[in-house]
Amino acid sequence: MKLKKLLEQQKKFVLPDLPYKYDALEPYIDEETMKIHHDKHHAGYTDKLNDAITDESLEDKTIIEIFKNASKYSDAVINNGGGYWNHKLFWKVMSSDSKKKPEGELLNKINDTFKSFDKFKDEFSEAAETQFGSGWAWLIYQDGKLKITQTSNQNNPLMDITEKQGIPLLCLDVWEHAYYLKYQNKRPDYVEAFWNIINWDYIEKRFNRIKK
Ligand code: MN
Repeated sequence: MKLKKLLEQQKKFVLPDLPYKYDALEPYIDEETMKIHHDKHHAGYTDKLNDAITDESLEDKTIIEIFKNASKYSDAVINNGGGYWNHKLFWKVMSSDSKKKPEGELLNKINDTFKSFDKFKDEFSEAAETQFGSGWAWLIYQDGKLKITQTSNQNNPLMDITEKQGIPLLCLDVWEHAYYLKYQNKRPDYVEAFWNIINWDYIEKRFNRIKK
């Protein structure tokens, strides 16, 4: 076995492979952005998370346990823990084989909650566009309800330091590193493009699992 692989296996948190090729989301998200985003940014958060949990003796904690008690931990654990987990979800909520909207129970719940899919789309897009500076937009499930929210930096709705908490179903990265090469300062164009590549099949499955 190669030494690099052996060393990787000793680390608690491992950078997952992208579930598709770097250019799979073209033309909405370009290949170069995906390469840098996954191989540099996501890899960096994962490496630094492993360093931080070693420094702070948190090797026995799951990432969810860390988020539930985020208020007890350092910025290094919070920022890199969020960066590790948020991107793992982000890759999964996108696909080159996207349908335009969800179906079944998730669509019903969206219609009940937001009046229509288009209104949900507007509200989620607004959360993504108005997040000041770096952060994320989220669709979360909590106490039987769907909610839209936004977080700064790499914070997420599983952390006890987050105001609106819940289980994330859908997320959108609005850090400039996610879109600047292709969209420069035009974040709304990136947000609009995102609606063409959402993996609703995955999010429906996630919803069905979580709501039980
Ligand atoms: Mn990112």
